[in-house]
Amino acid sequence: MVDLKTQYQKIEKQVDTAIKEVITTSNFINGKAVKEFASDLENYLGVKHVIPCGNGTDALQIALMAFELKPGDEIITSTFTFIATAEVIALLGLTPVFVDVDSNNFNISTEEIKKKITKKTKVILPVHLYGQCAPMEEILEIAKENNLYVIEDTAQAIGSNFIFKDGSKKAAGTIGDIGTTSFFPSKNLGCYGDGGAVFTNNSELAEKIKMITNHGSKIKYHHEVVGVNSRLDSIQAAILKIKLPLLNEYCNSRKKAAKQYSDGLSGLNWIKTPVIENYSEHVFHQYTLQITNGKRDELKAYLESKNISSMIYYPIPLHKQKAFSEYSTLDDFLVTDLLESNVLSLPMHTELSEETVNYIIKTIKEFK
Ligand SMILES: *Cc1c(COP(=O)(O)O)cnc(C)c1O
Repeated sequence: MVDLKTQYQKIEKQVDTAIKEVITTSNFINGKAVKEFASDLENYLGVKHVIPCGNGTDALQIALMAFELKPGDEIITSTFTFIATAEVIALLGLTPVFVDVDSNNFNISTEEIKKKITKKTKVILPVHLYGQCAPMEEILEIAKENNLYVIEDTAQAIGSNFIFKDGSKKAAGTIGDIGTTSFFPSKNLGCYGDGGAVFTNNSELAEKIKMITNHGSKIKYHHEVVGVNSRLDSIQAAILKIKLPLLNEYCNSRKKAAKQYSDGLSGLNWIKTPVIENYSEHVFHQYTLQITNGKRDELKAYLESKNISSMIYYPIPLHKQKAFSEYSTLDDFLVTDLLESNVLSLPMHTELSEETVNYIIKTIKEFK
C-alpha cells in the first residue's frame, strides 16, 4: 500500500546527517529541531501556533482537554473514521455522538450534524477523511449558531486546503478553533516513529495546550491543571524538518497517481471513483473506490492473487464497534452501512510509477 523505503532513499544523506546531529548534541527532548520544525510548520500552514506532541491520538485528546468540558458533554463526530477520533472522547468521560457521512466524499454530513445537536453538545469534531476537507464553511455556521467549538482531525489531510465560497483558502486544520494531525510514518507528512501536533490561531488556547502537553505546567514543578506527557522527540522533528519542504511535492505525486487511477477506471460502471468537491483540495492520503456491483470482497481477493494490495478503510464503522456499544444506536447510518460493504482503497504513496498504476488499472479492468 505504501513505499516508505524509496522515499527515504531520496533524502537519505540529509536525514542521516540530521539524526546524527541530534545524537551528537544529545538534545533528545525539546531540542532545537522541535522548535524549528514547529516554526516551519506554522509558516507552511499559515497558523499562529503549532504545538508538537507525541502522536495524532494525543493531539486529539489534548485539543479536547483545552476546553472546559464536563463529563457527559457531547462531542459530535463522524462514524466513518479511525477509532482514535472517538476513543479520546470516551476516555475523557465525554460522550461521542456519531453522525453519518456523505456518500460522495466520505466526510461528515452537515444535515445529519444538525439532527444530533442537543443542549449537551459542546464540540463538532469533523475528520478530513482520506485527504479531503469536510464541508467546513457549513460546519462553522452550525457551530456559530449553536455556540460550539470545532476541532478538525487533520491526520489524513495535512497539505490540503479548504476553499471558501469567496475563493479564499485556508490550510486544513487551521479553520476551526483547533486542528490536530499525526506524523505516523504512512501519513502524508510522516516521521520515522510516532509524532503529532496541535494547531490553533487562538493564543490563549495555545498557552493552555502547551501547558497540557507538559504535565499541566508552565514553570517546572508548578502544575496548574492535570495534563499529560506528550512530546515530539528531537530526532523525529529533525526528520520532519527535512520532509516538510517536500510535502507539496509529495501531495502532487499522490494527486497525479489519483488522476491516473480515476481516468483509467472512469469507464467502468461498477466502480465509483473519488469525487473531488469544489470546496476542497484532495491530497489523497487514501485513494478509495466504491465497488457498486456487490463484489468488493471478490475484487480484493482477485487483486491479491495478482500481487496487488488493497485495503478496506474502515471495515467496521464506529457505531458498530463493541467499545462504543454504550453510546450508539444502530440506526441513522444508511450511507456508512453501505460504504462499509463497498469501499476499497488502492495502493497510494509518493513513489507510485505510471507503469504500476497502469498495471493496477489493467488488472481491475480484467476482473469479471
Ligand atoms: C492516524 C489517525 C489518527 C491517529 O494518529 P496516531 O498518530 O496514529 O495516533 C487519528 N485520526 C485519524 C483520522 C487518523 O487517520
